[in-house]
Amino acid sequence: MVTVREIAWAAAIYEGEGSFSGTQAVIIQKDPWILHRLVRTFKFGTINKHGDNCQKWCVSGQDARQFLLTIFTELSPRRKAQILEHKKFFIDDMFKRQTVCRNGHPKTEENTRKDWNNRRQDWDYVCIECDKANIKRYTAPMNKAAVAYASVMGISKEEALEFLLKSKSDSKKENPDEGETIQ
Ligand SMILES: [Zn+2]
Repeated sequence: MVTVREIAWAAAIYEGEGSFSGTQAVIIQKDPWILHRLVRTFKFGTINKHGDNCQKWCVSGQDARQFLLTIFTELSPRRKAQILEHKKFFIDDMFKRQTVCRNGHPKTEENTRKDWNNRRQDWDYVCIECDKANIKRYTAPMNKAAVAYASVMGISKEEALEFLLKSKSDSKKENPDEGETIQ
């Protein structure tokens, strides 16, 4: 539960250092302490490097909506107007998610696969285009290994490749952090 005091604090930070692009709210700071406090308080958003000596807290989709609506009443008329330029973000269902993945592929239903994430106990939305590119990336060097493995084991290259890919995907299951996910 976020307290009224924390909301006022976050609103003041956003008032001074925040911006909203229409899909993403960002707060840039030199001192990351404030950004970590934002994450602790709201339990969402990610912190990334920004330029040489700053860091930024980014929040998008449903989390951005929640954040902006929570602090809205505390903001100046100027900040409110900037947010209201993007009214559509708050009413159009399409804006609940970003429209492209981090590699620029469309985030459509056809290009999205749902994967159960055991660690997070929630669904991952996987970009199918990115997935294909990932498979190609690790299949290419594996072709060589498959030829060698096939000759040692006396099996066909296809069988060897299948075996190697399977052990690769098994190891991926144990390390679910790999691969592009859509929030
Ligand atoms: Zn993608």
